[in-house]
Amino acid sequence: MANGRFAPSPSGPLHVGNLRTAMLAWLFARSTIGRFGMRMEDLTTGAAPVAEAEQLADLEALGLDWDGPVTHQSKHSERYRAALAELDAGGRIYPCFCTRREIREAGAAPHGEIDLHRYPGTCRSLGAAERTRRAEFRSAALRLDAQEAEVSVVDRLLGPLTSVVDDFVLQRGDGVAAYNLAVVVDDAAEGVEEVVRGDDLWPSTPRQVLLGRLLGLPTPAFAHVPLVLGPLGERLAKRDGAVTLADRRALGESPDDVRGRLARSLGLTERGECPTMVDLLDRFDPAALPAEPWTFDPSGDQPAVDPFA
Ligand code: GLU
Repeated sequence: MANGRFAPSPSGPLHVGNLRTAMLAWLFARSTIGRFGMRMEDLTTGAAPVAEAEQLADLEALGLDWDGPVTHQSKHSERYRAALAELDAGGRIYPCFCTRREIREAGAAPHGEIDLHRYPGTCRSLGAAERTRRAEFRSAALRLDAQEAEVSVVDRLLGPLTSVVDDFVLQRGDGVAAYNLAVVVDDAAEGVEEVVRGDDLWPSTPRQVLLGRLLGLPTPAFAHVPLVLGPLGERLAKRDGAVTLADRRALGESPDDVRGRLARSLGLTERGECPTMVDLLDRFDPAALPAEPWTFDPSGDQPAVDPFA
């Protein structure tokens, strides 16, 4: 049994790439008879997230269900504060006054092959007097003193990754917990045992694993799934056209049609079949998932050559 979750940011409607990841997260969890939770990552979208109701309705229309109430990161600031206090007590936090521009200009050197946004440690060794002086001019973000820890993590689909973790942000300058902190604390608090999400987050995973270890939390398993690409070969986005369930409806496709098409992209159905999510459970085999990104053409109803037909 592996409890899972889907954790969208309610900043806009889900597109078919998000829906496909959600289907996979559901299939991974439910195929092990695990719990499946729904969490709104709404730390930066404010108290009245515009898209939450629509996102949940779309997920339901596809046939996904979840256990317990939908949780909201905006309601968990106490948890994040406690985690920060624990790290601070261990001497693993420091304030950072750098702007993005300063970090860029400091020549944050690429370190490792895939993560180009490493923090060069500029504020790590500021003295107390200098920190006080700078705090008069700018509010500080809080960074983890990662001590150049080298972390190895194995993904179920992508295999192993080892990287030296940089001093990443735990709390932004405006006092809001950063994604990397919130995700680790919440996954542990919600009993998530397997994290299934888009593979754009794979490079940040060693950071999250290190943080979890420092906080004494269990490390979940990971399955990063390939993103959906738009017709131009870039990550699918709104600008690509009819990419949301509402857009597809307007073109005459039902949620069942969309589910069928996404299932076909995962190698789980034949053309013309319209299985339910529960039907798909019987056919789901993580080892047989396509490893390549899937290209979605919002204009045509089917790609000319369907590799899964
Ligand atoms: N909230 C993130 C997103 O919308 C997902 C984070 C995660 O699954 O860890 O892409």
